[in-house]
Amino acid sequence: MNKRDFLKDAILFFPAAATLQALASDASATADATATAGATPNDYDATRHWYGMGVDINKCIGCNRCVEACKAENDVPEEPFFFRTWIERYRIHENGETTVECISSKPRPPEQTEQAEPVDPTVVRTFFVPKLCNQCAHPPCVQVCPVGATFQTEDGVVLVNSQTCIGCRYCIQACPYGARYLNPRTRTADKCTFCYHRITEGLLPACVEVCPTEARIFGDLKGQADRLVRFHRLNKINVLKEDLNTEPKVLYANMDGEVR
Ligand code: SF4
Ligand code: SF4
Repeated sequence: MNKRDFLKDAILFFPAAATLQALASDASATADATATAGATPNDYDATRHWYGMGVDINKCIGCNRCVEACKAENDVPEEPFFFRTWIERYRIHENGETTVECISSKPRPPEQTEQAEPVDPTVVRTFFVPKLCNQCAHPPCVQVCPVGATFQTEDGVVLVNSQTCIGCRYCIQACPYGARYLNPRTRTADKCTFCYHRITEGLLPACVEVCPTEARIFGDLKGQADRLVRFHRLNKINVLKEDLNTEPKVLYANMDGEVR
């Protein structure tokens, strides 16, 4: 049995050991993890940034290009239900009922209209909501990780060190946004990193780069003239599950009260 498996068994069977382990390993694990999971160029100064993403719901056309680009960029398993980002379709019905469907687990809709989905006459409004890890400023996933494998970088991005993750799924259960999954290949937790390997090189996350309507805006909330700061200033902003005080850094414009 290797060290990772031993830790996993100890933590699952002796929860008190998890607490002790977390306390003992916190500082050193975070330092090690930054060196592996969040490797950055030598001249990159994380303390100068605080990253976030803006999403304009009125602009999303539900094309799923962002989802496909994310899967390709980050080697996310192709099977449906493994996502770092996904798109939900909200339908508001005339009786006031709201139905939500993840459209990213389906193949792209056919171009020919005769094969397209039939129109539901009870639907009065429909719109798309891109979802991803909210890169919470106060992330519950980090708090529950018993081995410090999930951690927050100084620029506000929550990462997972796959070298030290023991696959116990505590973080998956703790995330109120359903943003994490257990990677079937690595047996470790996985989720959006804002394409950390790209943004620390000055590039955009893959999903932002491919979005044809600029529904997604990536930026630095510490940057005075940053696009995201302007987006924040010019729009009425909402975040998901605000009452949980996780302080999400994915900022939604034109979001209805029905979105959850
Ligand atoms: Fe963690 Fe979930 Fe918040 Fe992302 S959205 S930082 S996975 S709690
Ligand atoms: Fe929406 Fe842009 Fe993603 Fe297409 S690429 S689904 S428009 S966010």
